[in-house]
Amino acid sequence: MDALSDFFPQFGIHTDFVNDINDLAEVESRIGPDTRAVFAETVANPSTKILDIEPLAAMLHRHGVALIVDNTVPTPYLLRPIEFGADVVVHSTTKGIGGHGNALGGAVVDSGRFDWANGRFPQFTRKELGVSDERGGVWCTYAERYGASMFAGRVRNAYLHNLGAVMSPANAYLQLIGLETLPQRMTQEVDSALRIARHLEHVPHVTRVNYSGLDSSQDKLLADRYTPNGVGQVLSFGLEGDESRVARVVEAVRVFCYAANIGDTHSLIVNPARITHREVPCAFRQAAGVDDRLLRLSIGLESAEDLIADLDQAIVVAYCD
Ligand SMILES: *Cc1c(COP(=O)(O)O)cnc(C)c1O
Repeated sequence: MDALSDFFPQFGIHTDFVNDINDLAEVESRIGPDTRAVFAETVANPSTKILDIEPLAAMLHRHGVALIVDNTVPTPYLLRPIEFGADVVVHSTTKGIGGHGNALGGAVVDSGRFDWANGRFPQFTRKELGVSDERGGVWCTYAERYGASMFAGRVRNAYLHNLGAVMSPANAYLQLIGLETLPQRMTQEVDSALRIARHLEHVPHVTRVNYSGLDSSQDKLLADRYTPNGVGQVLSFGLEGDESRVARVVEAVRVFCYAANIGDTHSLIVNPARITHREVPCAFRQAAGVDDRLLRLSIGLESAEDLIADLDQAIVVAYCD
């Protein structure tokens, strides 16, 4: 968010923000001659709101605009956005893919289906030194050199090479080990997350539970369509009273760790308004439902009963006076 609103403009990249990414009319009204791409989370962190990928992709493709999605929260095990029309998928592999909270990383997946040479993206159709044989007198464009994989080609050849965002071998090793157990971890974590979300709906002082896998969620139909095996291990819930109650819950938990990561084998708790979303301007935070009384959970591999008991005792302690 701070990258889109504050950092990228320093490089001439400007972003319009929409209130509801699933409101096609609103998104379409913002498309102009200088629009290149729409960026959205498939399952939003921490609301778990689900992106309706298919109609959005179809509408954008009519305009020659690419759809880039952040699929970090569900991971490729629960949601495969390219099958619904997404053009580029990005992941923080620090989260569910690595799964052990022990290494930083990221991945960019190019569908190979979007026509980046459609005229909106001069960087693919301009002859550049980086892909040319200058000594041989042959000058080419990224489109000529890489064909259908021109986006991935440019990510590697222009950005990775020049900006140096290269994963260290030790991190790659840890993340590949994590990847081997992705299905087993996700299956158990999603099962526990749904049980905990259902439980929290009936706990005193809990005002709302955000988890699109709940029958009470307004996104349940989208969840059934896009993530039939579960929405993920992240959920959030609101508490009565003021922010001090949130702080007391965070202090009183014994099984949950207070850490900003998600997708770890350890269950984590965080107050997003103070930690993960502190750089998001207040108005946007409110629109995303991230107020001072919200707590986010990332469910790990401990037993669901222990996690439920831990939350129950922490909430009792937080409201004992
Ligand atoms: C954590 C996170 C990121 C950023 O990941 P880093 O590995 O910290 O760079 C991006 N998107 C989502 C949805 C995340 O949860």
